[in-house]
Amino acid sequence: MKMGISLGLECPYRMRTGGCYFCRPDSFIAKYQREHISIQNQLDYVIPLYKNIYGDKRGVFAYFQDNTSTAGNIEWLRRQYQTAISHSDVEGLVISTRPDYINIEISDMLAEFNQKIPVFIELGMQSVHNKSLEFLGRGHTIEDTDNAINILGKNGISVFVHIILAIPCETKQDMRETIFYVNENPYIYGVKFHNLVVYKDTKLEQMYHREKFHLPDLREYIHLLGYLLPYLQGNKCVLRLYTSYKDRSLVVAGDFKGDKGKWNNELYFYLKTNNIIQGSKTDKKYSVTDIYK
Ligand code: SF4
Repeated sequence: MKMGISLGLECPYRMRTGGCYFCRPDSFIAKYQREHISIQNQLDYVIPLYKNIYGDKRGVFAYFQDNTSTAGNIEWLRRQYQTAISHSDVEGLVISTRPDYINIEISDMLAEFNQKIPVFIELGMQSVHNKSLEFLGRGHTIEDTDNAINILGKNGISVFVHIILAIPCETKQDMRETIFYVNENPYIYGVKFHNLVVYKDTKLEQMYHREKFHLPDLREYIHLLGYLLPYLQGNKCVLRLYTSYKDRSLVVAGDFKGDKGKWNNELYFYLKTNNIIQGSKTDKKYSVTDIYK
């Protein structure tokens, strides 16, 4: 069970450039994370909340969730991560960041923590195509992503990548190529898929009004997942299927009607009725009866 916490820092890329065109920080940061309270206090606040909902059974991962959680002075970062793992309930660390904020020094420090407790990095990869990274204003290339993953992987750190689907300049084949990259990289343990969402007061909103590009509705998005999942090897975990946001009123376009329960039901029904299985078009195959029990 991952407990979202915040270092309380602004994303350095946003401070430098205005940020990724789609990014609106208050769409993904919870209120308690915005209040600049200590890591210890955030964990003390959020762990009991989730334990009440899910029971006391599951191990807790401290999830440095927002902005770029490997940016900053390395000794200060070390103290923040140490505070998190010193919490009596915490059994692992998950740290989200950008590819250009991974270097050997950071990776070595994470490897030290990884000796004591499992450490995972969530990396904003988004796509394997530089044209798409430019469209999104990411400010890094796939070469930067590949370099970051290799630095981490060679140090024994497990990497999960975030991927945005249905970026307007991408074809289905482009998206498949991103999946192929994930399959081929041995250091990537899993993916988080996101549907592209346009938030108010972002550069993407201006582009959306100007270019009127198409964003899939729920049915189209589920069909897209149904098309892509068979190409994703069965040994790559899928941690997320949709963009998650705290406040729907901030969304201009790309929202789906209903809630995640409804989306999952529709996805499950679509996959089941069409016998779609993750990895079925790769070398790592699973039978329908193994999965739909
Ligand atoms: S790197 Fe992340 S937090 Fe920073 S601007 Fe881009 S999406 Fe936002």
